[in-house]
Amino acid sequence: MADTNEEITLTAEEAASLRQGYRYCPRCRSEMVDRLAYGRLRRVCSDPECRFVQFIDPKVGAAVLALSDDNRVLLVKRNADPARGSWCLPGGFMEVGETPKMTAIRECQEESGYTVEITGLVDVYYYENYRGSGVLIMYKGRVVDGAAQAGDDAEAVAFFSPDELPENIAFQSNLATLAAWREGRI
Ligand SMILES: [Zn+2]
Repeated sequence: MADTNEEITLTAEEAASLRQGYRYCPRCRSEMVDRLAYGRLRRVCSDPECRFVQFIDPKVGAAVLALSDDNRVLLVKRNADPARGSWCLPGGFMEVGETPKMTAIRECQEESGYTVEITGLVDVYYYENYRGSGVLIMYKGRVVDGAAQAGDDAEAVAFFSPDELPENIAFQSNLATLAAWREGRI
């Protein structure tokens, strides 16, 4: 999810400042101000009684290298930014109440129509882009059921053999994972 096609590299502070800092305290409705707190500049409630601090954290997502029994990889073509029009591994952001594995399985189902069984962990990636920073947990999995049905932020679904991958693949994490797979390292 580090954007390869439209990569904008930001420092963590720059990325954080572009994300939604509160104007008013969600706890007491006083104005929020930039103030040094816990070692860096943060949005802090101006009411000294309240002192609510807004922590802008990385988003956590999960994706899956989902393989068919004949060793082809499931990719989805994105119909939304970032990286609209590029192919990527199915994945997305975690929701409250689900584990990272559940996220990967759900996102694969929503985007591709296929049910995947998680078989291992590939790697954990960190990225920064114009939307902020994030951690992506990349799993390996086996396609066990379903049929191609593009949905959510995907407009097409296809399986590719290691030597027939499309040229326009999005995100450094996806490129690194697919390279490792092609080279037989995972
Ligand atoms: Zn407050």
